[in-house]
Amino acid sequence: MNEKWLVGVDLGGTTIKIAFINQEGELIHKWEIPTNKSEKGQHIPTDIAKSINQTLAEYGQQKSKLIGIGIGAPGPVNLGAGSIDVAINLGWENFQLKDILERETSLPVIVDNDANVAAVGEMWKGAGKGAKDLLFVTLGTGVGGGIIANGEIIHGINGSGGEIGHITSLVVGGALCNCGKTGCLETIASATGIVRLFIEELSSNHAPSVLRDYFEKHQTVSSIQVFEAATMGDELANKIIDQITLYLGLSLANLSNGLNPEKIIIGGGVSKAGDVLLNPLKEHFSRFAFPKVAQGVELAIATLSNDAGVIGGAWLAKQHFVNNDSQAIATII
Ligand code: ZN
Repeated sequence: MNEKWLVGVDLGGTTIKIAFINQEGELIHKWEIPTNKSEKGQHIPTDIAKSINQTLAEYGQQKSKLIGIGIGAPGPVNLGAGSIDVAINLGWENFQLKDILERETSLPVIVDNDANVAAVGEMWKGAGKGAKDLLFVTLGTGVGGGIIANGEIIHGINGSGGEIGHITSLVVGGALCNCGKTGCLETIASATGIVRLFIEELSSNHAPSVLRDYFEKHQTVSSIQVFEAATMGDELANKIIDQITLYLGLSLANLSNGLNPEKIIIGGGVSKAGDVLLNPLKEHFSRFAFPKVAQGVELAIATLSNDAGVIGGAWLAKQHFVNNDSQAIATII
């Protein structure tokens, strides 16, 4: 079998996920290495290159088996240069990721923002399969997003397109966001935001709650526990879910009124809550979406979970380094 493979890389603050993927988007092999953040993260590209070489050797394959690398990195990316201005959790400042990784691997590299890469992963093989216009929002520690219009990632003028987490959901007041603004969607619909809202509610709402009892005993709750309590009919937890799906629904509806997407995909750790998140979200979304926009769209939970990043990375590599005849373009851009 002479088929060449794509390499997808998902660069996270704790682990780096790497996969060999065929041109149909099927995983051949996936694995993880720890993210080495020492010395301002400068060893990261070398670690990736070594790990790829080692895995190739395990498969008895040469470097020529690989077409190129698509990598998702945190933060806005300078697309032309493939560089990252700042990635605080990796220690990077003005980091020339594309150049260094190309030098280390002798393979062509395409870099994009991690949420954008996960979005195209879901478009290629996940919940967005077949759609060319979609919104992807990832609810994790923060809120990330990717917007795809007519099959293309929306990057905007300086790589900050798709920053759905920083849509202002609360015009007046609201919590301070990492970006410096207040009232961003991320301060409400992220795992951290959900827990913060729940704890705030405890001080003013005295309804009986199993989760209040748990919190008073352990001084901690997780966002998943808030959803679990809501499923069991906990009034206080349900109030929080209603609140976060209201602001998430409002933000996604406003965005949709401008973009008229076919699919809205909810990913990230919080999305594991499933229907207890999705059903109230659909209701709030419909309240704020232009009727024809609401008719055309389907809201769904992401299906690729942790694989979205590597599959999306492979999609990017395919777009950039494979021509229509599925022949690898050997030149490094
Ligand atoms: Zn923000």
